[in-house]
Amino acid sequence: MKRLFLSLGSNLGDKKENLMRTIEKLSSALGTPAAVSSIIETEPWGFTSANSFFNCVAAFDTPLSPTEILHITQETEREMGRTAKSVNGEYKDRIIDIDILLYGDETINTENLTIPHPLMHKRLFVLEPLAQIAPRHLHPTLKKTIAELLNELRSCLNF
Ligand code: ADP
Ligand code: MG
Repeated sequence: MKRLFLSLGSNLGDKKENLMRTIEKLSSALGTPAAVSSIIETEPWGFTSANSFFNCVAAFDTPLSPTEILHITQETEREMGRTAKSVNGEYKDRIIDIDILLYGDETINTENLTIPHPLMHKRLFVLEPLAQIAPRHLHPTLKKTIAELLNELRSCLNF
């Protein structure tokens, strides 16, 4: 079993409902979450949009492989009606985005999958909810806890 952390974000439609329905769908594939953070509202990161985001993080214990998990998260995005994907690294409004943050203490670098998620330590919308449920979890390559990464990012952003 591996402890898996997923980041969920929505900035279209009934955003809270989108997050909750997505967690329900993920639960039927991955089992009951070990933990779910609260939902926070954040400004779009990396692109301009009038629509703010609702974000949360969920933890699951799973025997599935990273590839199987990616399959599940992408299928769930499709079922939720997500159509627009990022094009050439440009972000777009989305009903739901599910990113794989951490998979145990494993490091994965394939064409389709980078774990730990390469931008997670730069994003308050990831670290804030993640620190609620896993403050002492160690980032496997940065060798710092989530609480430490959050403190560093906050002081870097002057919060
Ligand atoms: P974004 O989240 O950047 O807006 P997408 O959701 O369209 O973009 O994802 C683009 C691709 O990122 C996916 O097809 C997937 O193969 C790849 N990817 C690489 N690493 C990860 C990860 N840790 N979690 C989720 N997707 C990832
Ligand atoms: Mg994504």
